[in-house]
Amino acid sequence: MKITKDEFVKNITIAGLLLFLSLSLLDAAEKKYYLLTTHDPHIVKDLQKYTVLEKNTGRLVIVSKIKKVPDFINHYLRPIKLSEVKSYTPVFKTKMNPDPSVQMALKNITPEDVKSIVTKLSSFERRSAGTEDNKKASEWIEAEFKTYGYQTESDCFRNNTCNIYAERKVEGKDYFLIEAHLDSVGRPGAGADDNASGVAGLLILAREMAKQNPDKSLIFFATNGEERGLLGAKHYVKKLKKSGKLSKIKFVLNMDMIGYNQNGKVDLETNREHEDQARWMSQLVNAYTGLTPNISIPAWGSDHMPFLKEGIETILTIEYWKTKTPCYHSSCDKPGHLNYQYAAEIIRLNLATILHKEF
Ligand SMILES: [Zn+2]
Repeated sequence: MKITKDEFVKNITIAGLLLFLSLSLLDAAEKKYYLLTTHDPHIVKDLQKYTVLEKNTGRLVIVSKIKKVPDFINHYLRPIKLSEVKSYTPVFKTKMNPDPSVQMALKNITPEDVKSIVTKLSSFERRSAGTEDNKKASEWIEAEFKTYGYQTESDCFRNNTCNIYAERKVEGKDYFLIEAHLDSVGRPGAGADDNASGVAGLLILAREMAKQNPDKSLIFFATNGEERGLLGAKHYVKKLKKSGKLSKIKFVLNMDMIGYNQNGKVDLETNREHEDQARWMSQLVNAYTGLTPNISIPAWGSDHMPFLKEGIETILTIEYWKTKTPCYHSSCDKPGHLNYQYAAEIIRLNLATILHKEF
């Protein structure tokens, strides 16, 4: 059979297209995605040599590999399916009615309070785990908890690296645990947003809850060594598990970087199985604050992780990550760069959460 030149060109083109399509499908089927579990600027810069960006919702940065990734970076890449990733502002048909007694309690939280604690903590110079300054900061935090009337414990699990726990037990009632890390990456006079802001939240919530008569037991947990791999939170979870107390912890709130914002949004981060809790907290955001909630799933990279791993309902409250501080892990993370009105709003949300939560 003879074919004309035109037919030959046509057939070759179709064959080429089919080959291209099947290769693309094969590529799509084989394409693997990874969630980046650190946003430290140094790692992110290195990462660009080995990967391409596939999706960026702020908290959730998904990449695929283009060449072999060195182990020190691979450590921060968690395999993930795109369908597991969610980032959205929930919409509700009805608005939750605020409780006047809760509204009254929220009025005690002021931006000035947050600023004064952030300034004090930043004055400890280098707060990285293992330093004298870190130890001094943990002692100051413990003394503050004591002035509010809490029973406290300093739990030093490494040299100059101590977790601080403040507890109020209500007989027969399970625990609501609130946490924030007290260590920084160690830049002098910095670590204001990350995470003196979260610790300010922790202390203010402890102070306000001391005035209440809640029907739940409380633990305020200043974690340490977060920047070295969530050391303090992992240590405490292990300890709680061993003593049998972990099963009494019903809800955990983590505050890590709540002091920088440009658009009034707050990220509520958790894993898929606790999305209902993030949605419930979103209703509290709408009822009690002027902020807009953004739910981010799945969780990574802070002290909420060891609790989530144990299946405990846990939410991270964090500044809207798409417009996070430009001073992240840098020496300019100083008290003057923070938005204290915004931080106070997140702390109000968390006080409303503690007061409303039933279990
Ligand atoms: Zn942090």
